[in-house]
Formats: sequence, structure tokens, C-alpha cells
Amino acid sequence: MRECISTCAQIYRRDRMLQLLVYLCVFVVGFAIDNTIGNLLGNLIGKQTILAEGCRGHLTKDLFEKFNLREGKDPQTFALGIKELWDIEPEKSKPGAVWHSVGWPLATDTYGGSFLYHLNGNQVAVGYVVGLDYSNPHLSPFEEFQRFKTHPAVKSIFEGGRRVSYGARALNEGGFQSVPKLTFPGGCLVGCTAGFLNVPKIKGTHTAMKSGMLAAAPWLLGAVAATMGGWVCDTLCGRLGPNLGCRIPAMTGLIGTGLFLYLGLYSPSPYVAVALLSLCYAFTQFAEGSFWSAQIHLAGPYSAPACGLMNTGGSVSGIIVGPLMPFLALKIGWVAALSTGTLVAFLGAVIWLFIRIDQPFQPRAATA
Ligand SMILES: Cc1cc2nc3c(=O)[nH]c(=O)nc-3n(C[C@H](O)[C@H](O)[C@H](O)COP(=O)(O)OP(=O)(O)OC[C@H]3O[C@@H](n4cnc5c(N)ncnc54)[C@H](O)[C@@H]3O)c2cc1C
Repeated sequence: MRECISTCAQIYRRDRMLQLLVYLCVFVVGFAIDNTIGNLLGNLIGKQTILAEGCRGHLTKDLFEKFNLREGKDPQTFALGIKELWDIEPEKSKPGAVWHSVGWPLATDTYGGSFLYHLNGNQVAVGYVVGLDYSNPHLSPFEEFQRFKTHPAVKSIFEGGRRVSYGARALNEGGFQSVPKLTFPGGCLVGCTAGFLNVPKIKGTHTAMKSGMLAAAPWLLGAVAATMGGWVCDTLCGRLGPNLGCRIPAMTGLIGTGLFLYLGLYSPSPYVAVALLSLCYAFTQFAEGSFWSAQIHLAGPYSAPACGLMNTGGSVSGIIVGPLMPFLALKIGWVAALSTGTLVAFLGAVIWLFIRIDQPFQPRAATA
């Protein structure tokens, strides 16, 4: 939620007052969630936000403009879809039957058509879609839908039935050539906000879900790796003591991070690069548990402020790296600039050789 708010703040950057207000909300929400200000800097900058606003999303529209995501793509086109769910008489039910029609009752110069799906439980989902480029100002998509239901081929289905719900919504009709650039600094677009509806089939649910799953894949991988890293750390701490128990998973995580970052950056195939960079992210998460565990071992009763400090340190380095990377990229190119991350990860792994978790922080005894 905090990241979503912070993305809004970035999108509305041109309106300073609104941005300040959003930042204030970020602070209040952040404080309410974890009672620390340690994460504040990270919240202000935001990390990754996956936008799934549906057709013609408001934030997405601003992102198109801000990051020029529609450049070189066909314009998006839109339609209005109206849908009703009916309980029908059991003898008329044909579960699994799918009907699509084009045209009537629309005039021949207007694009649109119907769908009618027989569902289980004596129900029918029926709807009508009208392209929003119609020229007749008196045309009412709702009235056209009601007229459609009077066609002799479908009229009898609804006789003796009961409408249980209804709704209307816009849909994208541009197709594949109207799909914008899908990523931007700090996030990506999925589902209908990106225009993934398959128009001839009027199917967008599966493409919305699949694009969401693909976008979430690195994070899911990260979630699994984080849990696995924590479990490995706990198990090794029990068997080898905290020193090696934290050091081994932390070093494994950092070495894996550096290695997969390097391999991903220099991979010639974009698909392999995405897989390798997802693994890179997973290894950062694998190391995470060891960092917190070591920090709690070392700081003991002072763990809470130490957690805040460690979080703030991470956020500050995030702030520094943000502008540093584009600057370095200008000098040595993006791939070389980003591969400095490999050096930092390997350096981090070496530093772990010198961390002594069996020598925790001891506050000096108060002098009389
Ligand atoms: C009449 C009609 C019939 C259809 N029939 C089918 C069909 O039979 N099969 C099929 O596969 N597809 C069908 N589709 C298409 C399908 O509904 C969409 O492709 C699918 O719902 C897209 O999913 P989505 O998650 O991208 O967007 P949505 O389902 O539109 O979900 C987006 C959600 O985000 C919310 N939201 C928007 N902006 C914000 C914001 N800034 N902050 C927070 N929340 C926000 C919206 O309120 C909404 O709840 C049909 C569409 C219509 C209109």
C-alpha cells in the first residue's frame, strides 16, 4: 500500500502540493504499520509498483504521458460492454453453450456485437459490446442491448427468467499493435490497463491473470527464497552456531546475487536475462534472513533501534544509487554501470568473513 501511494506521488510530481500531501500520507501510513521511521526514506522513493487498473486506468494514462510509453504504437481504441446475469428456466439451460453475434440491432456503420454464455446452475450471462467510435449521437448502447434481447433467436431464453445482476464497463479494442511499452522506472503494467484484451475472443481475464503472474514471478521467487534463506540460517545456527550459521547463507546469497546479476546483464537473450535477473533478486532475498538474525544477535536488547538504523542505511544507499546509476551509465554504458552491483555484492560477501556474531555488542557498565 505504501509503495502504491508513493508511486502516485511520483506520477503526480508536477503538482507539488498534491505530492506533499501524498508524502504525508506515506509517512502516516508507514508509521501506523511498523511504528518506525526507518523505512521512511525508502517509502518516499518507492520500489516497484505493478499497475492493474483495468481499461483506461487513471494513473496509467499519466504514465503513458510521463514516460512516453505509447510512442510508436497504434492508438488504443475502446468499446462499452454491458452485461447481465439471468436465472433461467431449467429446461432452457444448455451449460457450456457459447454464442457470439455481430451487428443487429446496430446499424451497419457501427461496430459491435453480443455474447451469451450458458452457465451451470440454470444461469445465462448475456451482454452487448458497442465500439465507442460510433457517429450517431442518438445511439444508446444500453437501449441497443435491450433490443438485442428481443431477437427471436434469444428472446425465449429470458421468458420466465429473472435478471439477478448487471453492470457496464469499458474495454480495449486496439489489440496487440496497441499494447504500449509495458515497463517504466519503478513499475510495470498488466492486464487491461496495458490493453491485453483479446478482442476477437472477448477474452481478457486469462491474459490479465497471466501477465500478473509473470510480473509477480520474480517477487514470488524472492518470497520463496527469503523463507528458504531464513530456514537455512536457523538450521545452520542451531548446528554450527550463529557465526557460521549466519555467514554461510549470507555469503551464498551475496555471491549468487553478484553472479546472476553479471550473467543476466551480459545475456544475449532477453528471456534468459529476465530469468537470471529474477534469480539475482531471489539470492538477495535468500541473504535477508541472515542479516536480520545477525543484527539481532549482535545488538541484543538494542535490536529495535539497530533495525531502524539498518533499514535507513539500506534506504540511503537506495537513494544514492538512484541518480548514481544513470550518471555512471552516461559515462560507461548501462550494462557496465549496473555490473558494478556485482562488485558491491562480492565485496559484501568478503566483509561477512570478518563479522563476529559470537561477540555481541556489550554496553559499558555505568560508572559511579
Ligand atoms: C461486458 C464485458 C464482458 C466480458 N467478458 C469476458 C469474458 O467472457 N471472458 C474474458 O476472459 N474476459 C471478458 N471481458 C474482459 C475482462 O473483463 C477484462 O479483460 C478483465 O477483467 C481485465 O482484468 P484487469 O484485472 O486487468 O482489470 P479489471 O477487471 O477492470 O480490474 C481493475 C480493478 O482496479 C480498480 N482500479 C482502477 N484504478 C485503480 C486505482 N488507481 N487504485 C486502485 N484500484 C483501481 C478497478 O476499480 C477494478 O476493480 C469482458 C469485459 C466486458 C466489459
